[in-house]
Amino acid sequence: MSDVLYFNGRFTTTDERVLGVEDRGFQFGDAVYEVFKFLGKRPIFLLEHFRRLDRGLRRIEIPMPWDETSFTATMRELLERTSFDDGIVYIQVSRGESERAHFWPDDMTPTAIAYARAFRFPDAAKKERGIRVITTRDARWGYCSVKSVNLLANALAKKEAQRKGADEAIFLADDSTVREGASSSFFAVKSGRLVTHVLDDHILPGVVRDAVIGLALAAKIPIDERPLREAELFDLDEAFITSTTQGVMPVSEIDGRIIGNSRRGEVTARVQKLFDELEANPK
Ligand code: PLP
Repeated sequence: MSDVLYFNGRFTTTDERVLGVEDRGFQFGDAVYEVFKFLGKRPIFLLEHFRRLDRGLRRIEIPMPWDETSFTATMRELLERTSFDDGIVYIQVSRGESERAHFWPDDMTPTAIAYARAFRFPDAAKKERGIRVITTRDARWGYCSVKSVNLLANALAKKEAQRKGADEAIFLADDSTVREGASSSFFAVKSGRLVTHVLDDHILPGVVRDAVIGLALAAKIPIDERPLREAELFDLDEAFITSTTQGVMPVSEIDGRIIGNSRRGEVTARVQKLFDELEANPK
């Protein structure tokens, strides 16, 4: 399928083979990505995604190819050129292309790409029914706060979930604490309180996670940012995951065990509604 593609300052289509084989994103996973959602061509949480991209690139010393104004203008132009109204935009910035060597030259020009894809966001029935998840060992590395393209451990975990009839895998640390999903943040609900992992290098600072925390605080729903113990997982009232594509999604089962009464819980429904309202009417 041919889509509009932004590549290093110009627009082309995904039919054009733009990347060189010695691009470090391809050879070393030396790249950071972002995914934002758009509805009716309106980007959602664009600034938050820009900021996370900026922070991630700084952390691994890749120059940010845009400032806030040029980023916004580029993404708006991409959406104007795109033939559909709702979907996601995938952005990737790699360190660039150079003769293959672990040491990189200091004067590299980053490779920046962005393209839109149509996406079927969860409908009302799925948002009520929720998803099944499994737990799996977190085999990732020490830079999980950077949205890097090193997603092999995430992809293997997702595939394991799929083979077990589940939609998402939740990573457990070696000390049996709960981290996050393979492509989502994880929230537990116990006695009216939300519990989610504290921000550190073991999890990605999710844009929806952050929005949900803000909404919950404003709604006086208490939050504990702490690692949940694996043993606590099976004594929860409710659980949900959050992500750009899934929004606030109830978890109905963990490793085949039903959470709460297997239906979307009250607190989850409240948070989901608040989030959907914010997405529809951003402040
Ligand atoms: N954690 C991981 C590992 C992810 O890959 C994602 C999204 O892809 C998230 C959390 C959720 O982040 P966001 O809410 O910014 O989509």
